[in-house]
Amino acid sequence: MAVEDSVVQVVVRVRPPTPRELESQRRRVVQVVDDRVLVFDPEEPDGGFPGVKWGSSHDGPRKKGKDLKFVFDRVFGEEATQQDVFQGTTHSLLDSFLQGYNCSVFAYGATGAGKTHTMLGHEGDPGIMYLTTMELYRRLEARQEEKRFEVLISYQEVYNEQIHDLLEPKGPLAIREDPDKGVVVPGLSFHQPTSAEQLLEMLTRGNRNRTQHPTDANATSSRSHAIFQIFVKQQDRVTGLTQALQVAKMSLIDLAGSERASSTHAKGERLREGANINRSLLALINVLNALADAKGRKSHVPYRDSKLTRLLKDSIGGNCRTVMIAAASPSSLTYEDTYNTLKYADRAKEI
Ligand code: ADP
Ligand code: MG
Repeated sequence: MAVEDSVVQVVVRVRPPTPRELESQRRRVVQVVDDRVLVFDPEEPDGGFPGVKWGSSHDGPRKKGKDLKFVFDRVFGEEATQQDVFQGTTHSLLDSFLQGYNCSVFAYGATGAGKTHTMLGHEGDPGIMYLTTMELYRRLEARQEEKRFEVLISYQEVYNEQIHDLLEPKGPLAIREDPDKGVVVPGLSFHQPTSAEQLLEMLTRGNRNRTQHPTDANATSSRSHAIFQIFVKQQDRVTGLTQALQVAKMSLIDLAGSERASSTHAKGERLREGANINRSLLALINVLNALADAKGRKSHVPYRDSKLTRLLKDSIGGNCRTVMIAAASPSSLTYEDTYNTLKYADRAKEI
């Protein structure tokens, strides 16, 4: 099947080493071979990081690498720009989206792997949430003669199995399923940014409102799932007959870290959060696995098991188009996390 035809497209983005990883002089465990292939734990490593001596003294005596080759729909190496990643992922969903299909894009991976950078980015180098919205505006502008459009955005998080509005913070919100509108969150605020600057400001402000708690694993780790949604309503500009109103939704999701709660020595309250984080993340994994198993057959897809999967019930599976971006660090410091992420991304290809 051609990449464009598959329901779930799986890509991997390997970020550049951080200063800490460079200082630690660990070896590189992900080798990007070309734009579809990477090797995890290569037998013949291509050396350490540029300008840094090979880290044998830190990694202990060199063992034989696993040397596992993975093939994905796309592999982005550390030189890939935000624009490259956008063009190679979400950009291809926009046609389907404008035809009325719901779409979803997930950033999956351990804390520190580059999920937030990819989805949100920062003001000087905005990510997929921003680039998608801007491209959508451009396309709608070009079609204004034929159709009437309305674009609304919302930004929410699932934290500790509770839904919070990131743009107008208030108490936790509930999920309803409406026979006509699909999944709705009563009380969630919708916005119409009128400029690129205003959109950026909303994304930054929303991100600041995310619930974040330092953990042992990473001081800026996030246990929340941030969900940015773009709604497009469109109607043909034909006088006379009542024209059908078409509504579609694009969900861009910065998932919580996929590392195991146990590895962060979580205790007490944090452990409960950890368990709940895993509930939404595990439920998502189970939903994707069920869709993979169900291919060609009808089988139960457990959307009801968590807030995240209930929210996305009308945006994954069925006629929806999905992109999963698996984010990974190149360093042996996070060997197990990267291995787990690649194994999971590999499994998701079967959907
Ligand atoms: P996550 O959201 O998965 O926990 P982040 O997106 O916060 O990870 O990334 C961790 C660190 O690495 C941040 O300092 C971020 O700016 C940096 N980083 C991640 N991806 C890239 C990239 N492609 N290029 C440059 N820096 C990156
Ligand atoms: Mg993050």
